[in-house]
Amino acid sequence: MSRWRNFQKHRYLIAATGTILVATFALVLTQYRSVRQAERQAHAILQANLDLSLLALVSEAKRDMVERADHITHSIYQRLVRERDLPGLQRAFTRATRRFPEVRNFYVVFFEGGREDETWRVLRYIPPDARDPRTPTYLGAPLGSLLEEADSSEALRRAWLSVRNRAEIATYTAYAPISLADARPRQIFFHPVYESASMERQSDLNRVGLVAFSAEAEAYPAPDYLRTLVNRFEGLAAESSGSPGKPAYQVSIRDGAATRVLAATAGAPPPLRLRGFEPADRLFPNLSFGVAPRDPAAADASYTRLNILLGLGAAGFTLIGLILTWRATRREMRVAQLKSDFLASISHELKTPLTAIRAFGDLIYSGRIRDSARVREYGGLIKAESDRLTALINNILELSRLERGVRRYRLEEGFLCEAVEATVEVFRHSAEADGYTIEVEAPSPIRTRFDESALRQALLNLLSNAAKYSGASQRIEVAVKRDESEATIEVRDFGIGIPKPEQRHIFAAFHRASQSEAQAGSGAGLGLAIVREVARAHGGEVSVESEPGAGATFRVRLPLLLAGEEQVTQTVSEENGNGKHPGDRRRTQRRHRFARQS
Ligand code: ADP
Repeated sequence: MSRWRNFQKHRYLIAATGTILVATFALVLTQYRSVRQAERQAHAILQANLDLSLLALVSEAKRDMVERADHITHSIYQRLVRERDLPGLQRAFTRATRRFPEVRNFYVVFFEGGREDETWRVLRYIPPDARDPRTPTYLGAPLGSLLEEADSSEALRRAWLSVRNRAEIATYTAYAPISLADARPRQIFFHPVYESASMERQSDLNRVGLVAFSAEAEAYPAPDYLRTLVNRFEGLAAESSGSPGKPAYQVSIRDGAATRVLAATAGAPPPLRLRGFEPADRLFPNLSFGVAPRDPAAADASYTRLNILLGLGAAGFTLIGLILTWRATRREMRVAQLKSDFLASISHELKTPLTAIRAFGDLIYSGRIRDSARVREYGGLIKAESDRLTALINNILELSRLERGVRRYRLEEGFLCEAVEATVEVFRHSAEADGYTIEVEAPSPIRTRFDESALRQALLNLLSNAAKYSGASQRIEVAVKRDESEATIEVRDFGIGIPKPEQRHIFAAFHRASQSEAQAGSGAGLGLAIVREVARAHGGEVSVESEPGAGATFRVRLPLLLAGEEQVTQTVSEENGNGKHPGDRRRTQRRHRFARQS
């Protein structure tokens, strides 16, 4: 039931908190989703970027290789083939091998137009042996020779047959062995030679021969070609700096089961995407080109993580803000509740003494009481009740001044013990009449600056609490102590005490510990709030030490605010014949015991 009431009381707060929580959660969720989506898109762009770069690399390589093949085969005049001019071809190949060191083997193929198979004849170019004195020379340079070999003739014929669509005017490519004895395939380029010169050629393309050569990927179309290609592409990538996943390149070759890297961007990660030439290209199928984002961190989702962390951080802060707001609001609500309780109790507090004062006043006024002792007794009661009323109203006024911030303290130099003793004396009259015992222990005079009236009020509050909550023991002890830098006023009782959880709250205005209701009934919850204010105004603090059932000790600590204080203490200590410690006190202990009146 009380839970339900609690819920009712806090329903707006709960609703507001819930709404903010849901909104924050929704925000974080939306942010997370959009960041994830952005991440996916960035990833797709990165992949597309890489794919495009790779495609460009591969087609550039293909174009270079085919163009170079065209260039090489065109260096052999077709006329020489058409006319079967062997010495001319010898010279042409000798020149070409010098110009194109990347060529491994040159061949010339002769056949009759339309009867390729039957009339197929291959001559391989053999480079000259410079050390052999019999080597023929041309214009002073050694001349290579042309050799007809059955083995390479047959291998080359099979390679040529493997070329499909031989009807085009183009450089043909094949990947096949160049010798029957060695089954390893090689890259072969064929260039067809037609019956008539290209200028005259109109419709009928009649092939009468081929110029062919083989090459190795490592050295074709130039010894350092792949390295240069990769460098060129890296240069292009550098221009597009800033785009995520700038590509790093790698070209490798498959050699049986092993793979060798022929060229690669320095420090590049292993390729993410791989591709070779199209099978239809019949161009170095063992070559493979690869790309990878040069900076793998750009490809991974580090910025996503950062964003999500930021979002979570913001949500965390919102949550902390909510908790703080919740606490502040709860506190405000509690204060409001306390104030309304205060109003209820204050009217009671005011009414009770007034009722008594009126009743006894009426009795005396009516003249029915003749006995002078009774009149005195009633007069005493009226005085006690008005004292209570005055103290209460003083507290209310004081607190309202404190709350409005208009309370000014006038700190004046004086003797603390004397002030304490004087206040206790004032309190003692009524307290002892009610059967309380008050012991005061004050050491040597302590000179310091304090606001006497404020301090008196604080002390009276502590004393009346001690009396109110002292239970059956009715014993109160007051002590003033000092050390190097501060003085402490201690008020101790042996009554009901204060439970630990309550101790934090009792100094708040309007707060009353739950058990005090049953014990003392009256009270407005102002006394300790004022004590704390006074202590703080003096630069000090108030604290409590208590065990339920064993009483409570309140300590008001006040810093000593006097330059010449040390001297005074010194003099006093010497007077006592003990100059060692300023804490050696002159005890002014008095004991007063009065019989309890019923
Ligand atoms: P009041 O005594 O008018 O209720 P105070 O501000 O003086 O207000 O005290 C606040 C609460 O602290 C009291 O309601 C009581 O529960 C507790 N308290 C104060 N002094 C004592 C004490 N000496 N022993 C036990 N409880 C105390």
